[in-house]
Amino acid sequence: MKAAVVRAFGEPLVIEDRPDPEPGPGQVRIRVEACGLCHTDIHAAHGDWPVKPTPPFVPGHEGVGLVEKLGDGVTHLAVGQRVAVPWLGKACGRCEHCLSGWETLCEQQINTGYGCDGGYAEKMLAWADFAQPVPKGVTAIDAAPLTCAGVTTYKALKVADVKPTQLVAISGIGGLGHLAVQYAKIAGATVAAVDVTDEKLELAAELGADLVIDARKHDVGEVLKRHGGAHAAIALAVNEAAFAAVNSGLRRGGKLVMVALPAHGTIQVPIFDTVLNGTSVIGSIVGTRQDLAEVFHLHAAGRTQVICETRPLGSANESIDDVLRGQVKARIVFDLGAGR
Ligand SMILES: [Zn+2]
Ligand SMILES: [Zn+2]
Repeated sequence: MKAAVVRAFGEPLVIEDRPDPEPGPGQVRIRVEACGLCHTDIHAAHGDWPVKPTPPFVPGHEGVGLVEKLGDGVTHLAVGQRVAVPWLGKACGRCEHCLSGWETLCEQQINTGYGCDGGYAEKMLAWADFAQPVPKGVTAIDAAPLTCAGVTTYKALKVADVKPTQLVAISGIGGLGHLAVQYAKIAGATVAAVDVTDEKLELAAELGADLVIDARKHDVGEVLKRHGGAHAAIALAVNEAAFAAVNSGLRRGGKLVMVALPAHGTIQVPIFDTVLNGTSVIGSIVGTRQDLAEVFHLHAAGRTQVICETRPLGSANESIDDVLRGQVKARIVFDLGAGR
């Protein structure tokens, strides 16, 4: 089977032929149909973050495919069933976080495409308990971006506890942001979309954003304040200045939910304003299995649309370059099912 492999940080991925991986106890082998390209994959390939993966490894945590082989003890999945393999590849199931519905904070977790091989491959392994069944009516291509971009933004809006009367700012309209706009609308909120390209602002408006703010031309904080200030701001742009900009547009009691991960990023949080205004800064990392099940449920019910562009896995390096240059409208999904 073919896989796109990071052999050394910062170097182009290498397409390799590898033997099919054998599922261990509790695992399944999946014939990958599609895998999305998430910005995290680029950070992984570049070794950007303090905790680094160990090359050689296969990135990809939006892998979706058909179960091909069951490891020992797997009884709840069937060969031929479509599943998605998210960032949360495995958690311990026993710690305080796992037991309290916060498995995404488990300290024993293994992350797909980071701590184990991911979905940039024709075949991959997954822990069966964390491979999420994809409901009928959701294609592999659509399921891929939902597996990280979808669940991550859906969870961020849950964390923000968005209510129908509230103003929510979505900063960064890309693979994550275009879904965040839709989840915020489903939650009933008034949505302000913030970006720096015409194409993405137009996309946000098409997807139902009530207000679009071009951060090149306007002071984001001022515009939000003119509309009463945001009850919540979801920071999805991989850019520190964008975090600070939406933070300055919160209303009293507002919440900044940090999601994007600019390498070594920091923002100044003014203590005086934070205390007097009672604002919160919250980190939100991906979502649980239940969150992903809900994301798939919404999509199967026709309530969300995924904007993506499919490419062959062989285009991995140029696709990464295009994402880094900001030249991708929403999500790139590698189509591994082509020609089968
Ligand atoms: Zn991701
Ligand atoms: Zn745990």
